[in-house]
Amino acid sequence: MAESVNKVIIIGSGPAGYTAAIYAARAGLAPVIFAGGPAIEDPQRVPGGQLMTTTDVENYPGFPDPVTGPELMDRFQKQAERFGSVVHLENVLEVDLSSRPFTVKGETQTVKGESVIIATGASARWLGITGEEAFKNRGVSACATCDGTFFKNQNVLVVGGGDTAMEEALYLSKLVAKVTVVHRREELRASKIMQKRAMENPKIEFVWNSVVEEVTGDKRGMSGAKVRNLVTNELTEIEATGLFVAIGHKPNTDLFAGVLDMHPNGYLKTEPGSTRTNVPGVFACGDVQDSTYRQAITAAGSGCMAAIDAERWMIEEGS
Ligand code: NDP
Repeated sequence: MAESVNKVIIIGSGPAGYTAAIYAARAGLAPVIFAGGPAIEDPQRVPGGQLMTTTDVENYPGFPDPVTGPELMDRFQKQAERFGSVVHLENVLEVDLSSRPFTVKGETQTVKGESVIIATGASARWLGITGEEAFKNRGVSACATCDGTFFKNQNVLVVGGGDTAMEEALYLSKLVAKVTVVHRREELRASKIMQKRAMENPKIEFVWNSVVEEVTGDKRGMSGAKVRNLVTNELTEIEATGLFVAIGHKPNTDLFAGVLDMHPNGYLKTEPGSTRTNVPGVFACGDVQDSTYRQAITAAGSGCMAAIDAERWMIEEGS
């Protein structure tokens, strides 16, 4: 029996992956999506991508009232499935992009495709300091919406000065006694509106020009962190039972090392103005190829581009 070959395989299920699926499905290409699954023990890598660990999304057009990240992603998935996308809730272990049809090997099944759209997104970065790994799940986290509830009425730290750090701090302020934001400079990178909200919140304090050097505690869990002031070089210990790391993200490109061209920061390279990678028939969209905008709406836009690029490429190829 001839091997069945799909038209389009999509890897990833954030706004980019699902938008690519909606467009590909409506074009009659019956895309197969590897949406990720719970097998990898990283709360940031659940099906649906980073929005699954976000609270209210206030900047996605069409939603004048806030919508939660998980609700928004549920709507994306339903819309993709309505037009005939097939969603596999499993992680991809291996891809073979060396010959066509391409092969994508998931945890339980291997699928062939004439084209592949990569929308694997990005994951939280960690500090790499002493105690960080040891106290993960016992104080150290990269997701306030996942773990904040464990720190009710306690003191917690947030590291970072971007929108994610402000969002984490604001979310935590509703649950905990005090949030201390530790930032390595004396100016935040976050948008003005998020800065204002955090600064006006009486439960949030800022420690400027400082970095966390070590997480401390014992077998019961984390009890504090050693914080170095980069101007005075003074080292102080701040008591806290939680540390939320919010220092940005790294693209999920390990699967494609040595095969697809990447920028020095690990993001996939695409041809300017398109989603084409260096391998004909393989397209990339969303945060995995965008270190600049990294918004749900820009990811969705590039997902649409990837589906159109894939469809046109297959027409050019006569497949
Ligand atoms: P960013 O890259 O914007 O910010 C990362 C922050 O972490 C910076 O303040 C950076 O410091 C700090 N940092 C980086 N590495 C270290 C380190 N090793 N030690 C200490 N501090 C460190 O990432 P975000 O995740 O905050 O945001 C990513 C994108 O997503 C942005 O475009 C943001 O606007 C967007 N976003 C939007 C939201 C919204 O609109 N609601 C919510 C969340 C994110 P420094 O400033 O010195 O470089």
